[in-house]
Amino acid sequence: MTGRLGDPLQRLLGPRTANPLAKLELHTVGDLVRHYPRRYAAPGRLTDLSSMVVGEHVTVMAQVRSATVREMRSRGGAMLQARVSDGHRDLSLTFFAKRSGVLRAHEARLVPGKVGLFTGTVGAYRGELQLTHPDYQIVGVDADDELAALVEASKPIPIYPASAAVPTWRIALAVRTVLDPLRPEDVPDPLPAPVRERRGLRTLHETLHDVHLPADDEEWRRGRHRLRYEEAFVLQAALARRRALVASQEAVARPGARGGQGILGAFDARLPFALTEGQREVGRQIAEDLAAPRPMQRLLQGEVGSGKTVVALRAMLQVVDSGGQAALLAPTEVLASQHLRTLRLLLGELAEEGMLGAAERATRVVLLTGSQSASARREALLEAASGGAGIVVGTHALLGEKVQFADLGLVVVDEQHRFGVEQRDALRAKAGTTPHLLVMTATPIPRTVAMTVFGDLEVSTLTQVPAGRAGVTTHVVPAGRPAWLERTWRRVREEVDAGHRVYVVCPRISADDAGRAGDDDADLVVDAPASRATAPDDDLLLPAAGAGGGEERRPLRAVEEVAAELAAMPALAGVTVGVLHGRLHPAEKEDVMNRFAAGQVQVLVSTTVIEVGVDVPAATVMVVLDADRFGLSQLHQLRGRVGRGSAPGLCLLVSDAPEGTDAELRVRTLAETTDGFRLATVDLELRREGDVLGASQSGAASSLRMLRVVRDADLIAQAREDAAALVAQDPDLGAWPQLRDAIELWLDPRREEFLDRT
Ligand code: ADP
Ligand code: MG
Repeated sequence: MTGRLGDPLQRLLGPRTANPLAKLELHTVGDLVRHYPRRYAAPGRLTDLSSMVVGEHVTVMAQVRSATVREMRSRGGAMLQARVSDGHRDLSLTFFAKRSGVLRAHEARLVPGKVGLFTGTVGAYRGELQLTHPDYQIVGVDADDELAALVEASKPIPIYPASAAVPTWRIALAVRTVLDPLRPEDVPDPLPAPVRERRGLRTLHETLHDVHLPADDEEWRRGRHRLRYEEAFVLQAALARRRALVASQEAVARPGARGGQGILGAFDARLPFALTEGQREVGRQIAEDLAAPRPMQRLLQGEVGSGKTVVALRAMLQVVDSGGQAALLAPTEVLASQHLRTLRLLLGELAEEGMLGAAERATRVVLLTGSQSASARREALLEAASGGAGIVVGTHALLGEKVQFADLGLVVVDEQHRFGVEQRDALRAKAGTTPHLLVMTATPIPRTVAMTVFGDLEVSTLTQVPAGRAGVTTHVVPAGRPAWLERTWRRVREEVDAGHRVYVVCPRISADDAGRAGDDDADLVVDAPASRATAPDDDLLLPAAGAGGGEERRPLRAVEEVAAELAAMPALAGVTVGVLHGRLHPAEKEDVMNRFAAGQVQVLVSTTVIEVGVDVPAATVMVVLDADRFGLSQLHQLRGRVGRGSAPGLCLLVSDAPEGTDAELRVRTLAETTDGFRLATVDLELRREGDVLGASQSGAASSLRMLRVVRDADLIAQAREDAAALVAQDPDLGAWPQLRDAIELWLDPRREEFLDRT
């Protein structure tokens, strides 16, 4: 960083002020002026004290009602007890000292009627909320003359993200100290002047004054707006450059065989159904991409069951027809095996090259996973390296060093969430040139999220679901009502008797898993938790509704326990109950899935292992226990497992989430709609942005500080347009070094990961 923004706070403010700031990772002037207020308090408006939660660190604005110093006879020493109020509710403040003299100073400042900011950790004493030794500042008194005091007292008060070590007003004071001497030329602006002019935005120097020292609400609002725009713009410029970079890379064109002569033509001819209009249209786009000498970078989104697999297979066959190979990367072994089966089934004799009865033009499909036997693996490796296999299906084992391809032309990634830049590089290394990339996702992605999170991919969407699907009805079952649960299991029985299959999903594997999330197979977690939880490895679960409030909740249902209960239940006598979760051996998983598909197991109790892609058309009922503990898109995916055949599906969400909680809202929303797009939007609104963007798993600050992908949709679209225009004119951004610096700053390793999550 240049000039004065790079100056160390230590030198400017001295260690007493700078050391606590360093704990907030604020080391330079630049860090500090970019530490924006979280909100603004209106001087007259008091904080609603009823929203305080024990254990939270808070800053509240309240009015002093009383303050009294007392000697403590029993313990010795003295105590100051003050009461502050929001007009309805009181909060007590307590200070202790050896001698009462120390406390007199506080008493002198805590004059009844004065308003102040009070900060501390909320505790409870004898049923009353209190702050012990709070830090505080009386508002609007220190100006010398009355007029100045009046003006000062009417300004919005910035409230900074603070900590116990540095209250917000110390930060405010420090910011003012470093901001005052900064001149416009000391503050390089990442937003190019033409862009600022076009959008009517102020310079960064002006904006810092707007957000840190606003004279009125109007000022901080316009400051915030400009910072949001800047964030969107820098991100979009980074993405535009990446797109330009990829577009400048070479790939092998894979136009396929002429005139429908190849395997693809034969495949189309033997498909037992007609492609939907959507499948044809998306197929055309992809065929065109593959035929170009630039790497395709495409995201294919579509509801569960919308027929993405067929589209992907057709793309793979076009590449095979051009003499190349395709790799299909699945998130789990269960899914990889299932993809292998599906592809072989769809291809029939087209996948039996070299065997008796194979079609004239054919290829081979092989499976490569971490857990297969040494000999199976050796054979698969050979097939991939020799080019014998046109299609290689696998898990991340495909990325291993030993895996070589003869001519890898296309990588298809099913459910992209764990496919980052290193993986792409690993595959590129195997391919010689950059392979074409097709990412499939069943999670509907609102447009602006696609532009932000998947900004370097073109997006295709399958909106239709193939005809002949009966659909799913969804109900919420209150967990606390035995009669309802009984009816649930009776219903399960009826479906089994009708020849159908039933899933029962639980959040945990076994009852000893101490209340935490269930599946070792971390790959399976598709949905970042919609949680405010900080436990980094607690991937699956949301915090209990009463978390922090000390409210007891019954333990979560577990697969093993529920399976035993169902097996012993008279209502289900004679029904075979199977178990599926990530701790089983892959061969066991495979076996139980096969038996479930074949009908030897009729009720499958499982974790979210079955969340993605598993296809058993005879399955009609999905019972989700503790449904409120799953994310919305996770539930939507689970529901997509049933109603795939001609019989109507039923989804029963068993939940005891208290009314009015986010958890209850998730479950209720799911029951109200099957519109995946609407669900994705609600989901986004319920989550913190960091969760959406996958950046806050480790508790690190969200990559986007000001921007909200849903709320700021229009602004993101504008920024994207401006950034694309700028990069088209000047791909290296040579004329805009300050923007380049800002992008570089963005692309620190953690953020790089975020950009490359595809
Ligand atoms: P997705 O991967 O999008 O969840 P699939 O590709 O697995 O969906 O398709 C779901 C089911 O629908 C499969 O059994 C598939 O064979 C079938 N299917 C795909 N396209 C069509 C179509 N156009 N008409 C009828 N059935 C189809
Ligand atoms: Mg699928």
